[in-house]
Amino acid sequence: MEKIVSLCKRRGFVYQGSEIYGGMAGLYDFGPYGVELLLNIKKSWWNANVRMRDNYVGLDSAIFKDPRVWEASGHVGGFSDPLAECKECNTRIRVDKELANIGVTADEKMSEADLNKIFDDNRDNIPCPKCGKKKFSEVRAFNLLVSSNLGDFTNDNKNPVYLPGEACQGIYLNFKNVVDTTRMRIPFGIAQIGKAFRNEISPRNFLFRTREFEQADTQFFVRPNENKEAYERIKKERWEWYLSLDIKEENLRFKQHDNLVFYAKDAWDIEYNFPTLGFDEVEGIHDRTDYDLTQHMKFSGEDLSYIDPNTNEKYVPWILETSMGVGRVFLAVLSEAYAEDTLGGESRIVLRLASHLAPVKVAVFPLLKNKPELVEKAREVYLMLKKEFGAVEFDDNGNIGKRYRRQDEIGTPFCVTVDFDSLEKHDVTVRDRDSGKQIRIATSRLGETISEVIKGKSFSELS
Ligand code: ATP
Repeated sequence: MEKIVSLCKRRGFVYQGSEIYGGMAGLYDFGPYGVELLLNIKKSWWNANVRMRDNYVGLDSAIFKDPRVWEASGHVGGFSDPLAECKECNTRIRVDKELANIGVTADEKMSEADLNKIFDDNRDNIPCPKCGKKKFSEVRAFNLLVSSNLGDFTNDNKNPVYLPGEACQGIYLNFKNVVDTTRMRIPFGIAQIGKAFRNEISPRNFLFRTREFEQADTQFFVRPNENKEAYERIKKERWEWYLSLDIKEENLRFKQHDNLVFYAKDAWDIEYNFPTLGFDEVEGIHDRTDYDLTQHMKFSGEDLSYIDPNTNEKYVPWILETSMGVGRVFLAVLSEAYAEDTLGGESRIVLRLASHLAPVKVAVFPLLKNKPELVEKAREVYLMLKKEFGAVEFDDNGNIGKRYRRQDEIGTPFCVTVDFDSLEKHDVTVRDRDSGKQIRIATSRLGETISEVIKGKSFSELS
């Protein structure tokens, strides 16, 4: 994990939030390459969940919502994590996670009394992560909602407007709008990518647990009791999406929740085998019955039930939810892609990113910087490719070997070199990131060939 964090900083993928002021815990900024990778992950998700389907539509709801939304959703009353504080150095720990580290099960759904009992039984085995002492306070439930004074001009903040604790609530709020304004009929889904904010007690492990993050969610609305088949389909499709990011199957697993909330029928997480951390959650897939819409009906007074246009049957739809942390997937993709190997006798760091995720698709080099005819031709090729792929870099700095290393480290699948032969024969050398293999390709076929490889054709099939 340390190596990935260091590569992220060194090559402009991820920076600590507010770094010049000393940094803020649990906040990160995505740099020039990071934002490209992030966008490519989100685009892949959006295509798979919205554009390539005919029964899902997208949405982008406002971050701020009526505070009653968070009462209806249960976040005001029950969105808490168990916290204890070290009496020596004031470090705060998340008790359920520390207990899990020593193999003891506890979770945020338990009562404060139960958590205190389990914690007391195990205190002797839990040292403070900072000072090593074992002098913790009692456990208390700490609410994770972050609040603001939006629209409140009184200075006493008695009526906080919350930042979203999860992004998906906007989908429930707009369920009726979508039914009334589109041709979507049950069963159908709504997808959204949105920001979430949580006052995490101990943000840690880089992008894994942050206080601000993005979630990519789908909610699929079905007729009551018609949940099972759709749930299995959704689980399968979500699994396949991770494989489409070139994540190896052996680094993924499903984990079923054993402690379900009272309204849920089923819940599974997809976990990824993160370096250092081991298997942990990247996405939750939840079979939630009619709880969410029923709660909003109670709190808003609006009827959110659905009338079947063919049978006139009226019901509150059941919901199947998928909720993925975009930052966690970003970290999983980088962890999977990171490799150190030896190529042509030299060691290198290489990101073996799937081409459709790579922040830069192609880099174009003139063989020599001080030969204007080569530079001119290389710029011509560069501009031609840039029109087609956008994410293309021109690099004439340092020897070719160094330029390859720079591109390998950010995961650029192809490097194109323009040399003296190119001027006469109108062809270029294309080098494959993973194998280092090089082939000559006519400049006129370059764009088309690279597109084919990005779409899945293997480099070794090219001649
Ligand atoms: P955890 O148990 O790890 O706190 P959770 O079960 O509370 O996660 P959900 O509320 O189901 O998570 O949120 C859905 C997804 O959002 C998670 O699978 C995860 O990928 C992402 N997520 C949740 N909390 C964070 C966080 N603090 N930082 C980054 N991503 C997060």
